[in-house]
Amino acid sequence: MSYQLLRPDPGLRSKIENAAQAASNMCWTCGSCDFECPVNRATGSLRPQKVVRLATMGLLDELAELPEVWYCQTCRRCIEVCPNRVKPATLIEYARQQALGRGLVSMEKYRRFKALFSLFQRVRWHATAYAMHNDLPDLPHSQWCDWLEEPIPEMAFTVTKQHYLPHADRPGNGQDDFHLQACFTCGECSSACPVSGERHVFDPRTIFRMVNLGLAERLLNAPSIWLCIACQRCSDACSQLVKGHEVIKQLQNQAIESGAVDRNFSHRLEITNRLIYTRLLDEIDMLFNFNSRNRTRIQHHAEIIDALNSQALCAVRPA
Ligand code: SF4
Ligand code: SF4
Ligand code: SF4
Ligand code: SF4
Repeated sequence: MSYQLLRPDPGLRSKIENAAQAASNMCWTCGSCDFECPVNRATGSLRPQKVVRLATMGLLDELAELPEVWYCQTCRRCIEVCPNRVKPATLIEYARQQALGRGLVSMEKYRRFKALFSLFQRVRWHATAYAMHNDLPDLPHSQWCDWLEEPIPEMAFTVTKQHYLPHADRPGNGQDDFHLQACFTCGECSSACPVSGERHVFDPRTIFRMVNLGLAERLLNAPSIWLCIACQRCSDACSQLVKGHEVIKQLQNQAIESGAVDRNFSHRLEITNRLIYTRLLDEIDMLFNFNSRNRTRIQHHAEIIDALNSQALCAVRPA
């Protein structure tokens, strides 16, 4: 095996730091960002600290070609937990811009990548619903296709006059500590949330509105409340100081306490997430023709990615 000597470039480091507004040289390699990154926790394949180290050494070419930057779901959790405010997520965004600017990733592939990430939230919803009532899915190819394609039933988010409770009749829901009643449904939380997309899949504003209408109980059986990745971006974005991530955490606790999910559910969900996130990363590798990872690959699914471009998401199914 031959090794190529890396040549740190302080000039390029300054260029990266200035452009990304991130002080990569402040990193003291504590590893908090690696530990807290939800993608890394599920797959072991995205270490924000690695991105920071490359930036510190001024290895701009390597940064722009790094497959891992496309695994990031832009939750900014790595920024929240960094004791030195290094901003790994901002460096990742800069690396993506470099890849796009250099033509390493075409706009067409970028568009398909965004579509895949958005539809992946459907997969997460279906997988969570499955884990609520079953053992672990084995996720064959056909199941992945179905979950990408299948719209989410309206279920908990359909509110009619019969559901609405007058203020005096609303049950206490223990959410008062989180400033929730100050919510004026501006939607900034939904814009900031990396998971939010289709309303029936996951939308923090809708969830907060329902709790304020006294309809928290209707959410306890909804898979959607488990799609939150606790990144706190909703809370940071809220001008009314609503602690949105705490509201959803409370709903999750209430779901466990009320028996809406059993006490082993969290464990099943964690393993289920490993399965579907690993599958997502395989799909991203295929989309961008990355071949460098050692994770066990599931058989080729390029047809799904092609189909994402059309309305027929699963035009080609296995026999
Ligand atoms: S933004 Fe989120 S997904 Fe991306 S590296 Fe940071 S913690 Fe991981
Ligand atoms: S959390 Fe911050 S200081 Fe710690 S390894 Fe990550 S970037 Fe470096
Ligand atoms: S950002 Fe705050 S005020 Fe706006 S909808 Fe979200 S919780 Fe409500
Ligand atoms: S903490 Fe807030 S922004 Fe983050 S995933 Fe949950 S609802 Fe979305």
